[in-house]
Amino acid sequence: MARRPIVAGNWKMNGWRESLNEIGAIAGAAGKADCDVVLCVPATLITDAYTLTQGTWLKIGGQTCHARASGAFTGEIAAGMLWDAGASHVILGHSERRAGHGETDTDVREKAEAALHAGLFAIVCVGENEEERDAGRAIEVVTGQLAHSLPGWASADRVAIAYEPVWAIGSGRTPKDEEIAEVVGAIRSSLEERFGAEAAETFRVLYGGSVAATNAGQVFAIEGVDGALVGGASLRAEDFEPIIAAAG
Ligand code: PEP
Repeated sequence: MARRPIVAGNWKMNGWRESLNEIGAIAGAAGKADCDVVLCVPATLITDAYTLTQGTWLKIGGQTCHARASGAFTGEIAAGMLWDAGASHVILGHSERRAGHGETDTDVREKAEAALHAGLFAIVCVGENEEERDAGRAIEVVTGQLAHSLPGWASADRVAIAYEPVWAIGSGRTPKDEEIAEVVGAIRSSLEERFGAEAAETFRVLYGGSVAATNAGQVFAIEGVDGALVGGASLRAEDFEPIIAAAG
């Protein structure tokens, strides 16, 4: 079956109100594409970005959320708050959150449950680090993260998985095509074991890690890859637009 690709941009801690021009240009590119396009911006920009992109094909997302709906969690943001601000999507379990904020698989699952309860679409990230790949443990690590990070009631219309080898993020390095295909295949087998063949077939699995205009077409041609999570190359419309165009 054909799965509609998703191209999601992750702006990380980048972007100012003056970046709304760029977001407007990316919305224009999304309108020409036959894929879902999401831009996950800093929380400060969600409402302005949402307002600006109303009536366009660009969806706005957040980059993390808290597992609880509200309370004494200084500095945190609830899934419902992202929704309230105008987000429809959220990235969860990004390796920068796992490494820099000690997020465990259980934390990611609880956040994903909160996101789904709030009505958000969750992009759940998994990926091995360089040491784990060199030790031949990439599949074991990724499928283990997936098993514990994904809620048991996840469904393909509300959740996508992003395979992001940690060593490929922001490094300009990417795995070989067959290495990506192998891990994506293992992710799909795990989904099959958990949700059954028919449901597993419908989940979108994205690749993330140094995707750029120069390699996007090649990445999207890899068996089982349904789009990309893009960091650096999503910051400027002129870099992001060819990636969006390559997906659909
Ligand atoms: C990311 O931050 O998820 C990412 C894939 O970054 P980059 O595209 O810059 O490697």
